[in-house]
Amino acid sequence: MLDQTPKELIKRDGLRINPLKTCQPVGALYAALGVKKCMPHSHGSQGCVSYHRTFLTRHFKEPAIASSSSFTEGASVFGGGANLRSSVKNIFDLYDPDIIAVHTTCLSETIGDDLNSYILEMEIPDDKLVVHCNTPSYVGSHIHGYANMVAGFIKYLADKNAPKNEKLGFFPGFVNPGDLREYKRLLELMGVEFIMLPDQTGVMDSPMTGVYEMFPKGGTTIEEIRALGGVKEALAMGDFASTEPALVLKSKCGVETKVLPLPFGVEGTDKFLMELSRISGNPVPKVLEEERGRLIDLMLDANPYFYAKRCSIFGDPDTVLGILSLALELGMKPIHLITGTPGELFERKAKEILAAYGLEGEGRVKSSGDLFELHQWIKNDGSDLLIGTSYGKQIAKAEDLPFVRAGFPVLDRYGHAYEPLLGYQGGLILAKRIADTIMDRMDRDVLDEDLEVVM
Ligand code: SF4
Repeated sequence: MLDQTPKELIKRDGLRINPLKTCQPVGALYAALGVKKCMPHSHGSQGCVSYHRTFLTRHFKEPAIASSSSFTEGASVFGGGANLRSSVKNIFDLYDPDIIAVHTTCLSETIGDDLNSYILEMEIPDDKLVVHCNTPSYVGSHIHGYANMVAGFIKYLADKNAPKNEKLGFFPGFVNPGDLREYKRLLELMGVEFIMLPDQTGVMDSPMTGVYEMFPKGGTTIEEIRALGGVKEALAMGDFASTEPALVLKSKCGVETKVLPLPFGVEGTDKFLMELSRISGNPVPKVLEEERGRLIDLMLDANPYFYAKRCSIFGDPDTVLGILSLALELGMKPIHLITGTPGELFERKAKEILAAYGLEGEGRVKSSGDLFELHQWIKNDGSDLLIGTSYGKQIAKAEDLPFVRAGFPVLDRYGHAYEPLLGYQGGLILAKRIADTIMDRMDRDVLDEDLEVVM
């Protein structure tokens, strides 16, 4: 497997080995699937979109629909305008979505296709819509693609003259449908009326009915996106996935928007709920206080197993920062924090969180990193536990490390997209996953006579 990864660290700028991110259109496609009756459309060759669809389908275990401009040599030389025009006509004729959300690819970006002009000039049926965003994959990551697509919906559709309403605009960040359901439960318990964009519940976690529906019943409606222009204020979850949509909504419609970290762990969820309490004027209900108490109870009960465990956390930036917060609350000692998404903000935020626990200057923190480097860090420093996406599996095997799957993607296990990791309930699930993994390893390694049943 990866047993041959060398220990010696060499400075690398122009090479990624075992990347820790995927390309922008994957995020754009996921965002577009969270809009009702929307067909995501990839403006490029068929090879790109088949990869993007496969990637999402393998994580969610659900079909991820998308169409393609089917570039061949002609479009690559003369531009993809004609391909896009015939694609849009065919998609509306054959599949009848309400809206097509076009994202670009490396090829259409490189040849300089002007999607704005193409869309302005094409014939679109009166009751249908076409929107777009730019997703050049040689910069950023799937997280930027996601943010760009959400911002694209707002640029095209949010109506600055929409009647004022008392709702909260809510950008959930790049999370699983299980997290989206948890957000909704918390918002409802706090008495906050909201418009969530995007909302993949009912689309990427739709139940098996025996009947295939190309457009399942979930997703944010076009009317709701228009009404975002009139919301009282907005909350954007996660600096990396949601700041861009928040900025666009503010500049287009003047809506004040606050950016918060993903609500992982006790403190993250406390902050989120206090914000909802300020917005709604409602106190935090007893049922949530009790959930908080149960999470703290588990943290205390299992503390001897969590305490001082040196862990390595990798994945998407907002998610890694959230898991870092929870790991510190559990009493663990995160020593490696790495994301493939570029942006020095990740490093600054991670260091701030570590400093709040007296760990300033400790551990290794890196954005724009890769799994090869993480593996090298582990070879040099050791680690008690690895937490991240399925792509950590080879490192865990090579180094014989206990491994907790969390984040995007989890390709080689089932049910992860259904389980929240956010909120107190999500904290309970993630803390239990970590405790189980540590204790399974202890059971594996101890002598038979030390195999305890009573803890
Ligand atoms: S060519 Fe670009 S857009 Fe297409 S799959 Fe590769 S990185 Fe993604």
